[in-house]
Amino acid sequence: MEITKNKCLDIPKRIDGLNDLANNFWWSWNNDARLLFKILSRSRWKLSGHNPVKMLCNIDKNILENAAKNQMFLKQYDSVMARFQDNMKKGDSWFLKNIGDSENLPITFFSAEYGLHHSLPFYAGGLGFLAGDLLKECSDLGIPMIALGFMYPEGYFRQRITVDGWQINQDEPLDRENASISKVFNKKGEKLVVKIPIIEPPIFVEVWRVQVGRNALYLIDTDIDANDPWNRGITSHLYAGNPEQRLRQEIVLGIGGNEVLNTLGIKNSVLHLNEGHTTFAILERIRENIEKGMDFDDAYKQVKATTIFTTHTPVPAGNDVFPFPLMEKYFSNYWSSLKLDREAFFKLGVDPKKPNAGFNMTAFALKASIYHNGVSKRHGEVARKMWQSLWPNVPVDNITIDSITNGVHVPSWIEPRIKLLFDKYLGQDWLLDHDNPNIWKLVDGIPDFELWDTHNWLKTKLVLRIMERAREIWMNEKADPRVILASGGLLDPTILTIGFARRFATYKRATLILQDIQRLKNILNDRWKPVQIIFAGKAHPADDQGKRLLQEIFNVAKDPSFGGRIAFVEDYDEQLAQYLVHGVDVWLNNPLPPYEACGTSGMKASLNGVPQLSILDGWWIEGYNGKNGWAFGKKKTEEEDRGDAEALYNILEKEIVPLYYKLDDDGIPSGWVNVMKEAIKSTAPVFSARRMTKEYVMKYYQKALKSASDFQLSKIV
Ligand SMILES: *Cc1c(COP(=O)(O)O)cnc(C)c1O
Repeated sequence: MEITKNKCLDIPKRIDGLNDLANNFWWSWNNDARLLFKILSRSRWKLSGHNPVKMLCNIDKNILENAAKNQMFLKQYDSVMARFQDNMKKGDSWFLKNIGDSENLPITFFSAEYGLHHSLPFYAGGLGFLAGDLLKECSDLGIPMIALGFMYPEGYFRQRITVDGWQINQDEPLDRENASISKVFNKKGEKLVVKIPIIEPPIFVEVWRVQVGRNALYLIDTDIDANDPWNRGITSHLYAGNPEQRLRQEIVLGIGGNEVLNTLGIKNSVLHLNEGHTTFAILERIRENIEKGMDFDDAYKQVKATTIFTTHTPVPAGNDVFPFPLMEKYFSNYWSSLKLDREAFFKLGVDPKKPNAGFNMTAFALKASIYHNGVSKRHGEVARKMWQSLWPNVPVDNITIDSITNGVHVPSWIEPRIKLLFDKYLGQDWLLDHDNPNIWKLVDGIPDFELWDTHNWLKTKLVLRIMERAREIWMNEKADPRVILASGGLLDPTILTIGFARRFATYKRATLILQDIQRLKNILNDRWKPVQIIFAGKAHPADDQGKRLLQEIFNVAKDPSFGGRIAFVEDYDEQLAQYLVHGVDVWLNNPLPPYEACGTSGMKASLNGVPQLSILDGWWIEGYNGKNGWAFGKKKTEEEDRGDAEALYNILEKEIVPLYYKLDDDGIPSGWVNVMKEAIKSTAPVFSARRMTKEYVMKYYQKALKSASDFQLSKIV
């Protein structure tokens, strides 16, 4: 079925495995593999945007030929390739040992976004990173998973900020030929073109493949010659603002995605849906069963028994509802193929609280999946209340919406120097067994000065990186000096540094810390114990309110009376996130409860010894233990923001600043380092993608796989 193009043919034979390596995102979470590209040519590596395919296509042939003769390089190459090949084998993976062989009945995973690496900008935020981290962990554990998503020809937008602090969205076409992705071809060597079933006028898609370790992620592309311009544009942006185009996106993802799987020969597998954007995949599976002769109820039951649905947000805008007339326009041919009439069809997606609002994607998915979960314990509770009306006769505590708390993929988010420190003190094999809490007790044995020095090195690296960006816009674009200063031109790598980086959705309350400007100024500009804050984050292009919050921050950053102690760094992406979660001293998070379903950036920070200062919401309710960071915000009044801001200033003034600047005789703040160690110990094993993924397998995948294989057997009989 598929032919993977050989993109760079000129690699000397002795090291031509580099080509396979470059075309498998495995390199992105295995630092030795990443280093292999980096040591070939630091400058080319950087200029390629850390994209090995692009780098290999543009590199001097001499460099490759020399490397093929360089014993040092070859030694490292051979060691990486041996491990790579070993990892790609089924071997004795965790899944094989604990669950068994399921290669011909994989779990299929649908998501509208994937955060794998900044060279593939197909993500807007946490939902995407959750999907990316899960895929990587499935590869590490040997879980057979096939993922589906969109090929966004322009990725997510690049963010620029004007001197007035207004966000400009720049679309940047992705250089598809030079990315770690391959077009999928059919047996005849032609591009695979799939027609979306039933929907008229027809929409066609082509398919790309991304290799994520052992597993494949297939990306659906509507930007092809066979489509008219409106259809071509279906995948042009993440989360189209126009409701009709949004509906068409979700039709293509769910119904089209299922058809792509069929074309690839993957049938009736377990379905895991990441958020309601993907819900139409359920409909399509039901339709297929009916086509094979089942009646609606049996078809529905069978699909339900093999479907897992994860809801990710209690924010209403995150739960799509399509008005009935719009649904009718696209589905009037469809419901008859489900053997339903209009009314019965619409009823599938009715939220009884708002029966006339339209087809609610989350409501349908919750009803039509046997397993469904929120993404933290708290979010589970919130979701049970929120969707109680779907089960009117069930007491709220018995509603089947369960929870599996998110976790982050440790090999992807651990900073290489921190990893070296762990290698030294936790034993060489700690990464293989990192969800075992016992290993993490050894963190206490890391000498304070080593952890502290490593952290300060990372903080300096962060500040220098931000200054380098500022210098670039100063030189190349002759930006206004105020922009340079507001972008971090006056940051100081020796003082207490707070990081706040997230999507500028309103509920995240980016400006909370600006409530009392004078008090904040006093904290930041203290002569002996100064503090600085680094902000970053994008507002959704259609969210003017979010853009105004960003503007407010930028204007404060520009204000000379803050002395450059506030910086806004533009274009938050995976790379900047890595720098920030490794390099700041405190990770600030202050959403309005209960809207933070989980949050994961604080886990990334804590894993690297950067403790969280957070509102008690999302994962922090489970994660905070009184020693590993700080929690605030218990007030529930009209004046919620004011109360929360006050609590935030109090903690900063009374706890965080004094602790940070309390040095022992040897110049090390051992009290502070202790909080860093507690953050690592308490976060790394529990809030890892490994713990999370194993939980999905043990609670859901295993049972759903059994149902799927029973169904396959019953058909054979
Ligand atoms: C981890 C991550 C997120 C999600 O973080 P939250 O804590 O959920 O806000 C968003 N964007 C990037 C770039 C990330 O790395």
